Amino acid sequence: ANPTRLGAIRDIEANEAPAAFFDIANETGAFFGENVFGLATMQKRLPKSVFKSVAATIQKGDKLDPAHADIVASAMKDWAMEKGVTHYAHVFYPLTGLTAEKHDSFMEPVGDGTAIWEFTGKTLIQGEPDASSFPNGGIRATFEARGYTGWDVQSPAYILENPNGNTLCIPTIFVSMTGEALDHKTPLLRSQAAMAEQAKRVLALFGHKDIDNVVSYCGPEQEYFLVDTSFVNTRPDLLNAGRTLFGAKPPKGQEFDDHYFGAIPDRVLAFMHDTERALFKLGIPAKTRHNEVAPGQFEIAPVFERSNLASDHQQLLMSTFRAIAKQHGMECLFHEKPFAGVNGSGKHVNFSFGNGNQGNFLNPGDNPHDNAQFLVFCAAIIRAVHLHGGLLRLSIASAGNDHRLGANEAPPAIISIFLGDQLADIFEQIANGGATSSKQKGVLSVGVDTLPDLTKDAGDRNRTSPFAFTGNRFEFRAAGSNQTVAAPMMVINTIMAEALDFCASELEAAVQAGTDFNSAVQSLLAKIVENHGAVVFNGNGYSEEWHEEASVRGLKNLRTTVDALPEYCTPEAKELFSKYGVLNEAELQSRFEVGVEQYVMTINVEANLTAEIAQTTVLPAAVRYQTELATNVSALKAAGVEADLSDLQAVSELVAALRAGITELKAAQEGAHDHEGIEEAAYYRDSVLPAMLRVREAADAIEGVVADDLWALPTYQEMLFIR
Ligand code: ADP
Ligand code: MG
Repeated sequence: ANPTRLGAIRDIEANEAPAAFFDIANETGAFFGENVFGLATMQKRLPKSVFKSVAATIQKGDKLDPAHADIVASAMKDWAMEKGVTHYAHVFYPLTGLTAEKHDSFMEPVGDGTAIWEFTGKTLIQGEPDASSFPNGGIRATFEARGYTGWDVQSPAYILENPNGNTLCIPTIFVSMTGEALDHKTPLLRSQAAMAEQAKRVLALFGHKDIDNVVSYCGPEQEYFLVDTSFVNTRPDLLNAGRTLFGAKPPKGQEFDDHYFGAIPDRVLAFMHDTERALFKLGIPAKTRHNEVAPGQFEIAPVFERSNLASDHQQLLMSTFRAIAKQHGMECLFHEKPFAGVNGSGKHVNFSFGNGNQGNFLNPGDNPHDNAQFLVFCAAIIRAVHLHGGLLRLSIASAGNDHRLGANEAPPAIISIFLGDQLADIFEQIANGGATSSKQKGVLSVGVDTLPDLTKDAGDRNRTSPFAFTGNRFEFRAAGSNQTVAAPMMVINTIMAEALDFCASELEAAVQAGTDFNSAVQSLLAKIVENHGAVVFNGNGYSEEWHEEASVRGLKNLRTTVDALPEYCTPEAKELFSKYGVLNEAELQSRFEVGVEQYVMTINVEANLTAEIAQTTVLPAAVRYQTELATNVSALKAAGVEADLSDLQAVSELVAALRAGITELKAAQEGAHDHEGIEEAAYYRDSVLPAMLRVREAADAIEGVVADDLWALPTYQEMLFIR
């Protein structure tokens, strides 16, 4: 490969794009879940009694019975070794948002110079990786850096294939010696249990007898960019920061809307085909694929699953995409804003609650009774989001996502709910009618009237809302493409636990006091609309008026990560998370500290890259061009021809601006040493980021004037349109 820009373009033109291996005979789905030690495989390989108990554990999410663990582990090992596996790994999800794994061999020396291949229940259930190098926000000092991993039985073990050796992967939680969560999975599981407990109380009030374990479901839509590897290799910013820190706006952008739902380019189709195959083998139900709004941008959406499983699958999907893109000579970019001025990437988190027996609680029912239950769950969401919008905002806060939120391509940082006209109207009628059971005009009587069919029409959707009802689920649209869905789902479960607790308590009290159940529901709904209806907004979330209106309504507008991070530390957050046993004070504090650290590190790396690229790539190009122009001027003068100095003057001004910008940026970075903690993060936001932007401004202007053959960085035009 040629490490220059023009070389990269030649390479891409010369490359024969690899075709996917496509054989329709293989496309029957026979290999779906082939590499997963799931229920079907367990049933074949475990004694009946053990299988039954494990299946029940999976249903309820309890710890595996230690008496059965050895049998499961041994069956798992045999299955894995038949598939060429020699090592196993406990896979966990540290607070960096990435996935971590530690590999161990099945090999056990037995003391006589030989070894056996063994996998015990104890090693299946618990592992002990060194926790010292994972961010833990001071929960524990490094000298006692032992952390424990423990299998989340609901998330099945799977085999990661690699030509260099297959690995058995076990999805685990990651906790400190004292049981504090160092990861994303632990609080997600705790929050799911807390929400389930409260939801069951509500279901019981609605007279359900056979109440199955309640879970939250999540269906993440993932946006991403594909860029040719040759380009990425010549862009240190893309390579190291995942986004371009330079790049003039291309002559043609996304204004023609010709990419969205257009034909998928062949090269990308081959990539999609291969990724889907890999995902299917891992039991990940990839379903939808299409182009996205920006050139070079695409989307994949798997079918929704239990949120803890969906979250693990989502992490696995991202690593699979990165690996397979490389095989196709491309890089898969998950950064929220790889290209300025071009739409960024999000991850829409579709979610609902339900269980096997009672179905999806966010599905409007076919009769008044079911509808009443549906309305209580919706009202609970209204309360939850109104009381804790700040936590939702927090759950998707990152330096990368800051570029996207509120940039007229993604919802604003203000968290509001879109219900759609019909559902909003229903709640309005309920609010107007109060607790009446007699029917007046414009008043809906809960438990008596049937709801109109709520449209699920995509055309009716409000794309500007961060939290929208879409027919049988809500869609949280503020999540960034690079983020784990575990964090937002953990917050959603927890704030729903509180809201459902409130609803159940109100209803229980009313019924106890002799109120008729339907009237009790009606008053509860009216009360929630009255107290929390301010969070419902059906208008244009991008508009300036909404920012004003939202502030009048008292809704938080936490514009940046730095504004959002302190939400971990409010008395309300401490009270909420400890009440429902999801995160204690130390765990919240550690998340806050890790969040600050991640933010500072991200921007510092970007600042380093900005200074380096400006100094070593942009400035030399500008100076060479300046010299060329100067040489030309003196040659003309020597020949007695009148020289036009305007180009030389313009370039010289830009060179001066670039130099000044680099100096200023370096000084700004130095200044960071005077700050600490959240203040340091605020300093990076207010002083370093703007200094980076000024360097970029000069550099992008230079890109617009220098001779093309002197320009070393692949341009936006090239990266977005050549494939
Ligand atoms: P759109 O782009 O129209 O929003 P997609 O088909 O791209 O829809 O993605 C919708 C996502 O929502 C999918 O992951 C889908 O499985 C998920 N989904 C559908 N129903 C539910 C539900 N009840 N709970 C959670 N997620 C759901
Ligand atoms: Mg979609």
